[in-house]
Amino acid sequence: MNLVIFGAPGSGKGTQSELLIDNLNLYHISTGELLRDHIARKTELGKVADSYISKGNLIPDELMIDILAHHIDEHPESNGRLLLDGFPRTIAQAERLESLLAERGTKLDAVVGLEAPVSQLIPRLLRRGEETGRADDNLETINQRLKVYHEVSHPLRDHYIGKGIYHPINAIGKVDEIQKEILSSLKAKG
Ligand code: ATP
Ligand code: MG
Repeated sequence: MNLVIFGAPGSGKGTQSELLIDNLNLYHISTGELLRDHIARKTELGKVADSYISKGNLIPDELMIDILAHHIDEHPESNGRLLLDGFPRTIAQAERLESLLAERGTKLDAVVGLEAPVSQLIPRLLRRGEETGRADDNLETINQRLKVYHEVSHPLRDHYIGKGIYHPINAIGKVDEIQKEILSSLKAKG
């Protein structure tokens, strides 16, 4: 099974992904983590990525898709058991993902949508900024990330509802209970 975990910044994608990879034996790829790793290693790509991330903007689609395709090909054990976290974030990325998977003989089976009101997201992100020092978790950048999410990423929800593979999940509550809800929603699909 190939899965996408989708939701606004701070909706808990990373937290739920950590549990899902064990529960479903999936191969986790967080595009945000891939980019932060480049930034930490001060690669050329890291410098480019940082110029977008620090402002709360998305990395250009072509670049993001290249990075993802490259990573997938370097990890053939991920084929057919991907858990994508933070990708796709635009309709163009979703379309490229579809062909990328088709070229590798697989397809996207489900999109888990973590849904939470903005009023709950901002305090979570601010707290994470304090606890982890993550540079883009400051109020100005958070506001821009939420704006970008609503303008260009949120439309993916309808896109995947239309394809019949969207699983809406209430992202407010206890981590374990949200995980249970995800697993039972995926199971109900059969
Ligand atoms: P959370 O980790 O709480 O889910 P988030 O979704 O904002 O929050 P990441 O997924 O780690 O955080 O992404 C951080 C940043 O990396 C984004 O704000 C964006 O600049 C860049 N980025 C990550 N994924 C993509 C993508 N698919 N396309 C373009 N830019 C991306
Ligand atoms: Mg994350």
